[in-house]
Amino acid sequence: MSSLPPPPPPPPPPPAGRSGGSGGHQNNDRSDRKGTPGTPGKTGPGLPRWSVFVLIAVLVIALFGSQLFKSSDSNKITYTQVLTNVTNNQVTEITVNNQTYSISGKDSAGKAFTSDGPPNGPSTEDQALMKAHNVNLKYVAPTSNWLANLIPLLLPFILIIGFLIWMQRRAAGQMGNVMSIGRSRAKAYTTDRPSTTFADVAGYDGVKLEIREVVDFLRYPERFKEIGARVPKGILLVGPPGTGKTLFARAVAGEAGVGFLSVTGSDFMEMFVGVGASRVRDLFQQARRLGRAIIFIDEIDSIGRKRGAGLGGGHDEREQTLNQLLSEMDGFETSEGLVIMAATNRPDVLDAALLRPGRFDRSIIVPLPEYTERLAILKVHSRDKKMGPDVDLETMAKATPGMSGADLANLVNEAALFAVRRGINQVERLDFENARDRVVLGARRESLVLTGEEKRATAYHEGGHAILATILPHADPLHKVTILPRGMALGVTWTLPEERHTYSKEFFEDVICKAMGGRVAEIIVYGHLNSGAANDLEQATGIARRMVREWGMSDKVGPMAWSGQQQVFLGEDLMTSGREYSDHTAQMIDDEVSSILSAQEARAHTLLQQHRAGLDLVAEALLEKETIDGPEVGRLVQQGLGTTPTQNVLA
Ligand code: ADP
Ligand code: ZN
Ligand code: MG
Repeated sequence: MSSLPPPPPPPPPPPAGRSGGSGGHQNNDRSDRKGTPGTPGKTGPGLPRWSVFVLIAVLVIALFGSQLFKSSDSNKITYTQVLTNVTNNQVTEITVNNQTYSISGKDSAGKAFTSDGPPNGPSTEDQALMKAHNVNLKYVAPTSNWLANLIPLLLPFILIIGFLIWMQRRAAGQMGNVMSIGRSRAKAYTTDRPSTTFADVAGYDGVKLEIREVVDFLRYPERFKEIGARVPKGILLVGPPGTGKTLFARAVAGEAGVGFLSVTGSDFMEMFVGVGASRVRDLFQQARRLGRAIIFIDEIDSIGRKRGAGLGGGHDEREQTLNQLLSEMDGFETSEGLVIMAATNRPDVLDAALLRPGRFDRSIIVPLPEYTERLAILKVHSRDKKMGPDVDLETMAKATPGMSGADLANLVNEAALFAVRRGINQVERLDFENARDRVVLGARRESLVLTGEEKRATAYHEGGHAILATILPHADPLHKVTILPRGMALGVTWTLPEERHTYSKEFFEDVICKAMGGRVAEIIVYGHLNSGAANDLEQATGIARRMVREWGMSDKVGPMAWSGQQQVFLGEDLMTSGREYSDHTAQMIDDEVSSILSAQEARAHTLLQQHRAGLDLVAEALLEKETIDGPEVGRLVQQGLGTTPTQNVLA
């Protein structure tokens, strides 16, 4: 029994990350890369695959070729015929093969003939006969096909050697090919450059404007050289997961028409020490060979973390890799036409040396999309899908604050999947609603059916949230409320967060008050508590704590702030994340937090008592219909107060 979505965190720089975009990210990234294969037709560093077939063909021809050609054109006669011809003085020359006793010869006209001789060669009488008729009789060893004789001898050796090579390759494949450990696994799109352009990246005009300069530089480096303008060597894209950082990097390469070498930070790490550093070296070498190119290091925080920090002492391997990266970045001039781009969602853990001028001297923030951007992203991704006439992307964009580009791409895809499942041939509004419910709230729990008292309690609980969401002046407007179990929740009260960038104290108070609504409603109606409200309390407490500790919203504690409780993170110094205030202050903070919470609970109590009739009406409606929308709750609240719908109760 929770109320979703939780209030969005205020915007601390850098933007806090949403987790949950990663699935979409990978999928889409794949499809984005479609049509840009690496180097086809090669089996790694060895010979090309076709060479094996050529070799086999050559062997076959060498072995059987001579026989194939020979037997067809000579004229073959029987041995008796040979003897007859000898007797008639028609034969001048006979050659007998020592091994097969096959006979070849020449007649008096100079024509060649062959014959299968008797099993043991011409008998003594026959030899005498030939001599008598002046036939030049010769015996030869079979020299005709030395290869044919050699092969049976060599075959075992060839097989053994082949087997050994095969074994070695297999072993090498298993352990990352020992011979080319140091070779960077960067995918060089030398021939097939990314076809992504800025048109594929919806919205983010500000980012595009900033990044345009890099495109211009890669396109016309001479212009920049002429003036002597120095272009940033490295550009760091900073933003939560799924906001299109990778997409942007590819689009820059696509727009500029240059090679794109992409590598993920963690790719540098292997089981072998020193590999990372040599990979970095290799990567830069490869890029130089391309001429103008973009090196893209995704998730750079995995190698670029602050050195000398973290649990378990320094991580030598990572630091070596980072050092190598730094020195490579110093080692080239921007005039070479190389630009390094990197992406991260944790700029706070990056080593300061990475961020100094001459390295990643420009950071571009790629924030979560705003309404207009969400709309544009939704449009881009619905381009290639069949949309029904009732699909309203504007409403969808309004209803999805906090979602990243990847989330939105995923949403459109989920909607299409729902449409397929329904067996219709276009995506309709209903599919979008279903998809959003699913993405935001989790899948419906069909198996869980609430009955009787539990269902009633849930209806009152959610009704309490819903009524407060409707009547509280600063709270986000109510979208809908349901008692159909979804994800982990037994019911959901769903508000539509308005886009804001700062949040007032009143807003947070209303959020806390609304969160208390469920629990208070249960107390009012049943006089006792259920465990279902734990989630609400957690949310409320979290906000109250941050109000006091971080946002200076408590008069007693005053204008002091302590940063949020960081998780123990590998890249951070453990020493600095201790508590920075006295016991007295800690006590004061706790007191303030609990006084905020109690005040809001009391407020929720008063308000719900005032709307007791409305609460009953909403709960009844929920029990009947299971899901009702915001305006409906508004009407029921009015009805409960006995006023006409035109009168304003919200004030
Ligand atoms: P990041 O690297 O920031 O985690 P990606 O660049 O991998 O995110 O983006 C993931 C996917 O989300 C993209 O492949 C794309 O489908 C979608 N996406 C993100 N931002 C946008 C945008 N501005 N326009 C269109 N699609 C976007
Ligand atoms: Zn609740
Ligand atoms: Mg990425």
